[in-house]
Amino acid sequence: MKKVFIFLGPPGSGKGTQTSRLADKLSIPHIDTGSLLRKNIQDETELGIIAKGFIDKGNLVPLNVVTSVIKERLVQPDCAEGYILDGFPRSVEQAEALDGILQEVGRFTLKEDAMAIYFDIDNELLIQRLINRRSCPKCGTIYNLISNPPKIMDYCDICDTKLTLRKDDNEEVARARFVTYEKETAPLYEYFKQLGILEELKADGSISEIWENLKEIVFDE
Ligand code: AMP
Repeated sequence: MKKVFIFLGPPGSGKGTQTSRLADKLSIPHIDTGSLLRKNIQDETELGIIAKGFIDKGNLVPLNVVTSVIKERLVQPDCAEGYILDGFPRSVEQAEALDGILQEVGRFTLKEDAMAIYFDIDNELLIQRLINRRSCPKCGTIYNLISNPPKIMDYCDICDTKLTLRKDDNEEVARARFVTYEKETAPLYEYFKQLGILEELKADGSISEIWENLKEIVFDE
């Protein structure tokens, strides 16, 4: 069984939902770079202040910022048995940096211990999903006004807090994030294929269909 799961997929492809499920099932941490960065922004850390300008425009934050945040996380004791990386690496440059970080940490290697799972899905469908996405600022539950709406419009089913739209989920920024994805992240498909660790996940179905496909890939390899 692999120890490091790298999820590659365009924004809004359902990666977050599937990675959380897999993390629960395997009892390993789900490391989501976007959330780690947003936490740094909220806490007004030095890294967060630098990251904010890039995130607000839908651009990738600089390599040294994201690698610092990731390295800090991967050395934690709860990462000793493996982890799921969601949103990192997002470019070939970052994949090479990850290789270096893994060597430094000394627990796992990309070639032996990692599996890269690529979400195969149509972009236009995703832009519509993104601009209809809402999340609960209190408990983190994610909704979609079209495919997974809350029972009472705009309020969280679990804690009744008013739902929010992420600042970078408006249409203009969402489109910019896709351009970034195609330019920076899509080339990782070839990179991981060459390395022999790429798996393709058909990701245009319902949450439970994607989950079934994912389990097949992870548990039947
Ligand atoms: P996400 O929540 O994964 O959609 O990420 C939100 C934003 O955080 C992205 O649009 C980027 O600006 C930034 N971000 C997240 N992960 C990375 C990464 N690996 N490298 C650079 N920027 C990132």
